[in-house]
Amino acid sequence: MAEQAGNLTFGIIKPDAVRAGRTGAVLQRVLDAGFRLRAMKLIHLTRREAEGFYEVHRERPFFGELTAFMSSGPCVVLALEKEGAVRAWRDLMGATDPAKADEGTLRKEFASSIGENAVHGSDSEENAQIELAYFFSRLEFV
Ligand code: ATP
Ligand code: MG
Repeated sequence: MAEQAGNLTFGIIKPDAVRAGRTGAVLQRVLDAGFRLRAMKLIHLTRREAEGFYEVHRERPFFGELTAFMSSGPCVVLALEKEGAVRAWRDLMGATDPAKADEGTLRKEFASSIGENAVHGSDSEENAQIELAYFFSRLEFV
């Protein structure tokens, strides 16, 4: 994967969007925006797995709420390929708080609050590699 690291990012369709039956709608938006799916699966995180994933936020006041939410139901984890994928995916997602998200972004359309905000995206190429490795083995990439 390393040879094309700049073109890969990691995304999640979070439990709120899956629960609301929006998985297909989000995936269509992903494909329409020109991302190529390199890996994808439906998983239900345990509380401990959610804590591991969001370890950097452990000291934040919303850590308990965040990890309870992320383990509250199935989510879809994605390896997304596009030129400048990290930036492009965060642009498509929109601001963390959907009230501040631009028109046309996924969070504007699918998110209900800053806590339940429909999608996740890596914030740097380095974190994309770490997060992809947290969820996918080499064999799961096509
Ligand atoms: P993500 O990492 O999920 O893509 P982000 O990078 O836009 O989102 P972060 O600052 O990394 O935002 O926060 C991680 C997640 O923690 C947010 O997506 C949101 O679900 C939750 N979160 C952030 N700030 C708050 C808050 N003030 N109250 C409740 N939940 C929050
Ligand atoms: Mg983040």
